[in-house]
Amino acid sequence: LYSSAASDVYKRQDNQLPIGSTIGILGGGQLGRMLSLAASRLGMNTHIFEPNINSPAGRVSQHVTTASYDDVEALQAFGQAVDVITYEFENIPTSALDILENMSTIYPGRGTLAISQDRLAEKNFLNSLGLQTAPFANVENDKEAVAAIASIGTPSILKTRRMGYDGKGQVKITKPTQIHTAWDTMQGSASILEGFIDFNQEVSVIAARGVDGEVSCYDPGENVHHDGILHTTKVPSSLSTPQRVDAVLIAGKILNALQYVGVMGVELFVTPNGLVVNEIAPRVHNSGHWTQNGCDICQFEQHIRAIAGWPLGDGSRHTDITMENLIGEDINHIPELSKSSAALHIYGKEEIKPGRKMGHVNKRN
Ligand code: AMP
Repeated sequence: LYSSAASDVYKRQDNQLPIGSTIGILGGGQLGRMLSLAASRLGMNTHIFEPNINSPAGRVSQHVTTASYDDVEALQAFGQAVDVITYEFENIPTSALDILENMSTIYPGRGTLAISQDRLAEKNFLNSLGLQTAPFANVENDKEAVAAIASIGTPSILKTRRMGYDGKGQVKITKPTQIHTAWDTMQGSASILEGFIDFNQEVSVIAARGVDGEVSCYDPGENVHHDGILHTTKVPSSLSTPQRVDAVLIAGKILNALQYVGVMGVELFVTPNGLVVNEIAPRVHNSGHWTQNGCDICQFEQHIRAIAGWPLGDGSRHTDITMENLIGEDINHIPELSKSSAALHIYGKEEIKPGRKMGHVNKRN
């Protein structure tokens, strides 16, 4: 990956970022932290942009900018200091991206971000590829709320179109009359009403696409959520071989349509009528953490490779794994867990809060 010429060992080849380059990461949470650790193994530096001090990622990175996403000067200085920009969450303000895109390449690109920031745009995009989603209707006022419940029926879920995560900004509706209070809780935020999918399982595909268009998918993992938050991911999943192929083909179709660069999480519901796409996340994904101990090249290294223009690594699974999130007070079980054979991944968050992801463990099945 680098020239052996004594004068310039770090010379760039084939548009690959040379080792020693600096990767800018928007967001300083656990995903940014694990991206930084992977980048570091590849001889790269990372620069975290994060509004909060002492962030999980900031504490393992060479450079940190502590500033808000509307601090134009800080964004410009960050953009100038890095060789490529990526992110660990999809809700980055558009105004910040407007500044950064003039200064450096942003991977994954803005087209993907625009789609994944808005559940309505996301569903329309997926349907345009011929992929199944939950039936949905746009809701921006009382009249549309009533029309939506008439067309979608119950059970259904009202979700804010933007800024929702881990089941936040969602209300389940079991009787049509509940639509009024559900819509009130959205406080006027544009929303969509989704038909409830009676799924057998939830699975996700962690897929990567390189700058050269190569696509590589990890084996689909089977996910269990508690209270809308991921609890466990198990590989191998209980998918049949045709379902597994289908899942991977769906992910590949999405990445190719977006000319995507980087790692994406594609969440799917398994139903008797085939696979239904729940949502896409244009970043490394919690349901891909098993790859850290199940594969030679984990999702974090794969993402760094992709955005640096390097060849994708081998993502085949060598070990069957169950990943379990440590949420809130679960982190207090570390003394016992440390005596087990589980691989520990602890995010170094300063404060325990209910529902907060504090770490995860990967256990061999
Ligand atoms: P989301 O934030 O949209 O990924 O939703 C979080 C979780 O809520 C999903 O992983 C599912 O377990 C559940 N969920 C969301 N949307 C639906 C749906 N339309 N039908 C059934 N379950 C859903």
